[in-house]
Amino acid sequence: MPNKLEICNLEHKYGAIQSLKGVSLEVNENEIVALIGANGAGKTTLLRCISGILKPSKGEIRFEGKSIAGLPAYKVAKYGIAQVLESRHVFPKLTVMENIEMGAFLKKDNQRMQSDIEKWFEVFPRLKERIWQTAGTLSGGEQEMLAMVRGLISNPKLLILDEPSMGLAPIFIDEIFNIIPRLQKMGTTILLVEQNASMALAIADRGYVMETGNITLTDTGRRLLNNDKVRKMYLGEE
Ligand code: ATP
Repeated sequence: MPNKLEICNLEHKYGAIQSLKGVSLEVNENEIVALIGANGAGKTTLLRCISGILKPSKGEIRFEGKSIAGLPAYKVAKYGIAQVLESRHVFPKLTVMENIEMGAFLKKDNQRMQSDIEKWFEVFPRLKERIWQTAGTLSGGEQEMLAMVRGLISNPKLLILDEPSMGLAPIFIDEIFNIIPRLQKMGTTILLVEQNASMALAIADRGYVMETGNITLTDTGRRLLNNDKVRKMYLGEE
């Protein structure tokens, strides 16, 4: 099962607060899977458990059949899982190029890194024009793109995106949501967490709805978009 992520009955607690109550979810090779849910549903907690920032209290996380639950973040990264964090976390005083090089810390071969940078610049030409600009002076959308390239530079098998549209102008939201399916076509498997449910479900092969620490609904992206409950609760329809 190449590139397959399997999460079974995952639980997590912040002290006495149970934030994940037995979550099961799968991402198959080369899928885009969207995870949607209201504020506080537990989406970020789930992503942090996958990438090793938080430790689950129970349950299993497997990638390509191997257990990764509870491993530290640097080991999870070595399995080929990259996470682009919600708040982007670019280094504001470093240039675009320096930020990208920071993401390539796992890579030793300099020539290979240069050709990888060129490959991702073709997808993100806006960044290529700005390689010497400091990241703090980029627009929000450009910073999101930089965070994505930094995650992609190690050619991850699974890319996890946490709210890539957050705080962006509509034009950048459109641009990011055009780019994500291109990344899929280039062979990347993607788990996408989004408040913007309509755009996420429109590009997702499958989706999951999360409510207060549980997965309450799962289906194809298209069917979830047409689901009455999803339309009322997450798409703002009456
Ligand atoms: P959002 O869309 O607002 O980011 P979310 O679905 O990602 O929400 P989480 O951030 O995972 O939700 O939060 C899940 C629950 O855990 C919430 O009730 C939240 O208040 C709680 N929580 C999150 N972080 C902590 C923390 N460090 N300590 C205590 N409780 C926390």
